[in-house]
Amino acid sequence: MPETTQPAWPEGLTARYLTVGGSTVGVWDADEWSPVRALCSGCIASNRDGGPGSSDPHRWAQSHAETCRAMPRPTA
Ligand SMILES: [Zn+2]
Repeated sequence: MPETTQPAWPEGLTARYLTVGGSTVGVWDADEWSPVRALCSGCIASNRDGGPGSSDPHRWAQSHAETCRAMPRPTA
């Protein structure tokens, strides 16, 4: 495993979008156990909740990141 300066990404995460509130929207590869493809770490919205671009996780993530002002949850 090469060293990285970025925070660890969960396995299967393919992209992260920074929201205006400072949270991130993660986009995961599809798999058989979870239909969630894009999930906001700030407000826990996902592309399953609908909204603009909900059929395309990357589009949904981009669109949500531009409007979500939820603060990131503390990790500790
Ligand atoms: Zn959000």
